[in-house]
Amino acid sequence: MSIAENIARVREEIAAAAGEAGRRPEEIVLVGASKMNGAAACREAIDAGIDALGENRVQEMVKKLAEDAYTGAPLHFIGHLQRNKVKQVVGRAALIQSVGSLELLDEIEKTAARLELTQDILLEVNIGGEEAKSGFAPSAVFAAAETALSRGHVRVRGLMTIPPADAARDANIRYFEAVRALYIDIGEKMFHNRLEYLSMGMSGDYADAIRAGATMVRVGTAIFGARNYSV
Ligand SMILES: *Cc1c(COP(=O)(O)O)cnc(C)c1O
Repeated sequence: MSIAENIARVREEIAAAAGEAGRRPEEIVLVGASKMNGAAACREAIDAGIDALGENRVQEMVKKLAEDAYTGAPLHFIGHLQRNKVKQVVGRAALIQSVGSLELLDEIEKTAARLELTQDILLEVNIGGEEAKSGFAPSAVFAAAETALSRGHVRVRGLMTIPPADAARDANIRYFEAVRALYIDIGEKMFHNRLEYLSMGMSGDYADAIRAGATMVRVGTAIFGARNYSV
């Protein structure tokens, strides 16, 4: 199957899940998670109408930027971001989805201020309370949003989450629903209902995520095929 055929199939499933949830397919942003796929695959996805591409690793993103991989689609940063690499991402990524600590938030603010721009971000929620994973605890998201609102160069557009990889399907759905509830609550109380992006769901569970309220899904394998970790 070609990337274009894969995207068409994913779009069909998105439309079906959105329909079940009483929403329109156009309300769902499809982000291609293009890590470990080259510039040619990225361009193929853009030609096939992907809404955005998301990268995980700064070095890979910088290399592919130089190869013109993303022309024609917004670039998102979706992976763990170290503070010392923030400079290479701010202003280049249209959306940094993985802002999961106040230290990272402040570093992005500082860099964006220096560049005199406003960086769009999502706050990442560590919904499974996993030690090894970054992201704000659900109880810390309001305070993080308050901090972001007090800064002049970051703009919170929504929330992002990655549930525990080993969650059973029903537990996974409950995690999605919990983040949705938080998204609605924080949107009403702090953002005048102007949050747009609830980023959750990957190849194995994007339909569940959409039924639970996702407005943005990050799909890698189902679009680009299995990643080859040995190269
Ligand atoms: C790789 C990745 C995805 C996509 O995963 P697939 O299972 O290949 O669809 C989504 N989100 C993040 C943060 C990722 O790193």
